[in-house]
Amino acid sequence: MKKLLSALLIAWLVLSAGIFCHAAEDEARAAADRLYGLGLFSGTGIASDGSPVYSLDRGLTRQEAITMVLSLMGKTREARETVFQTHFLDVDAWAVPYVGYAFRQGITAGTGPDSFGAHKEVTAAEYLTFLLRCLGYENGNDFRWDEAASKTDWLGVTRGEYENAQRFTRADAVVCSERALHAFCRGSEQTLSEKVLGLALDAPLSLPARVADNTYAFRLEDVPTYEGTPFVVLNAGIPSFTEDDLSHLSFERYGEMDGLGRCTAALACLHRDLMPSDSRHSIWQIRPSGWHTVRYDDLIADRYLYNRCHLVAFSLAGEQDNERNLITGTYGMNHDGMRGFETRVANFLQHSDCHVLYRSTPVFDGQDLVARGVHLEAMSVEDGGEGILLNVFCYNVQPGIEIDYRTGDSRAMENAAQIIESRQAVVSDAVYVANTKTGKFHYTWCSAAAAMSELNRYYSNDRDELIELFEPCRICNP
Ligand SMILES: [Zn+2]
Repeated sequence: MKKLLSALLIAWLVLSAGIFCHAAEDEARAAADRLYGLGLFSGTGIASDGSPVYSLDRGLTRQEAITMVLSLMGKTREARETVFQTHFLDVDAWAVPYVGYAFRQGITAGTGPDSFGAHKEVTAAEYLTFLLRCLGYENGNDFRWDEAASKTDWLGVTRGEYENAQRFTRADAVVCSERALHAFCRGSEQTLSEKVLGLALDAPLSLPARVADNTYAFRLEDVPTYEGTPFVVLNAGIPSFTEDDLSHLSFERYGEMDGLGRCTAALACLHRDLMPSDSRHSIWQIRPSGWHTVRYDDLIADRYLYNRCHLVAFSLAGEQDNERNLITGTYGMNHDGMRGFETRVANFLQHSDCHVLYRSTPVFDGQDLVARGVHLEAMSVEDGGEGILLNVFCYNVQPGIEIDYRTGDSRAMENAAQIIESRQAVVSDAVYVANTKTGKFHYTWCSAAAAMSELNRYYSNDRDELIELFEPCRICNP
């Protein structure tokens, strides 16, 4: 008997470790606890220690799904008090008021004349369609039911995991439902939890005045000509976001490729919870518009002229081989232009609970296949831009190399060595050096600066610019 017991115990330990070892499982458990606490999710029973049993790893039946959806709509009580029967024969007694009510209200249909498919598992598309309906989006009008997942991705209720999902578990249902509570209802300034349940789960969001009041519109012709600095600050660093961009939920929206196969723009609401825990895969198979594999061994520290350059950096949102997020960018733009800003945003996210709105737009001139640069805008959301406020243009150039932006062809300039030498002169005259990896800047003589990798160095004499972008070192106090 004792032997059997310990075998059972071991089996239980192994099983429970297997079930709850992923972050996603922790997230589901936490979401289930929150919904349970709000009375929006009832679980499947009570354990001997009095805690609720959620059965998160099993599928969600259609009768369970409709009950959850009615609770998110704040209608379960009304259903219980007004509906006592249904013509569907396969519905369990406990679910009769909910299924009957949902059918009467046109929220759901059956699977046959007298069957609801009550014990069938709900599909991702079905459940996400229900959630969108809760949020005021109309099936057929605002989205197509078989594309419900791309609409919920757009809102941040899902994160790309249900595009081709076969199975939708109770864990999936609680995570998506809990996120939906924090989403804004269609055309409304209220979230689902505020509007339908009267719960204030989130502090209100608004744009800081300096962002709301500015009328800046980016135009390539207004960008100063490149003169050796890898980026330029636009509109005194104030971005142009609108109220519609604000969200309590993390999301990533990547624009469709245009007719020339070019990336359009990416808008993300970044948060620590989107930052990757896995490492980067190889992305060599992606060929962005204008791509050439070309090297200049004597002229570029990293040899290759072009990088597959992320619009939203891997370090920020963990996007691997998303072709709508990768452009042909010079080594110089990637490392000297964008990297410092990405590092600064990543450092901020790591030490904050705030979201950061982040828009990255490749700027093409006419029919060019290679972008002239990337327009980057960012704003920390909950603190009204106190932590992060950015509006910059990073030039897609490489010192000493001439690029044909129409095609991506390139050649070394006749005076390439001279140009690079004059940049070296800037370097040796520079008072400050920033580390684009750590986001700190130093006096060039600082001991901490000496150890810095050549690839992460950004030299400058402009302290005003540096203090906007980087943190001063605590040793040398630049
Ligand atoms: Zn220092």
